[in-house]
Amino acid sequence: MNNPGIGSIEVICGSMFSGKSEELIRRLTRAQIARRRIQVFKPKIDDRYSEVEVVSHGGLRLLAIAVASSADVLERTDARTEVVGLDEVQFFDAGIVDVASRLADLGKRVIAAGLDQDYLGRPFEPMPALMAAAEEVMKTRAICVRCGQPASRTQRLVESTERVVVGAAGLYEARCRRCFEPGVASAAGSLPFPEDADGSRSNS
Ligand code: ADP
Ligand code: ZN
Repeated sequence: MNNPGIGSIEVICGSMFSGKSEELIRRLTRAQIARRRIQVFKPKIDDRYSEVEVVSHGGLRLLAIAVASSADVLERTDARTEVVGLDEVQFFDAGIVDVASRLADLGKRVIAAGLDQDYLGRPFEPMPALMAAAEEVMKTRAICVRCGQPASRTQRLVESTERVVVGAAGLYEARCRRCFEPGVASAAGSLPFPEDADGSRSNS
């Protein structure tokens, strides 16, 4: 997988809070330990925490370059770079699939993390095409905040039909297939245990 000179695309995908950024940071950190030259890019749309870092919900961080388009990724990738990290790939334009393939053809290891589904559970382009082009795909799962089972869906908690509403805690939560309610904005969010699932909240 890490054979220098043989390029490849690895995709890490799943719901929000599923550990995509953590896994991306883990792989990139290991590449650095192996003295590979790395570069990390993320689309400019996502400025939740920092313009220049990939930050996980657990607080891990890695320096990144914020770019406006997939073409900028190609342009700003140094010829000597061996490993290219891409975070929040669902916010890149469709050109990211060709760009990732070009980089892999040049012998680089491309590691891309992003949401596989949108807030309605629909495939989140350009992830499906990138998954098809990839040598390896990992699906990560969060913990369903309703029932505690592994979660594969991202529940939006605020009313909006916009596909992109950027934010994390308070705007979205992780849900399993059974607890997911596509298109229902449950503004109060979920209580963590099924005993409390009648919606009542107590401080005790
Ligand atoms: P992603 O990139 O997939 O959104 P991150 O890597 O940024 O995920 O964050 C994963 C971390 O989020 C976990 O290690 C955990 O600390 C935290 N977290 C918060 N809520 C949840 C949840 N419902 N399920 C799993 N992890 C959660
Ligand atoms: Zn559930």
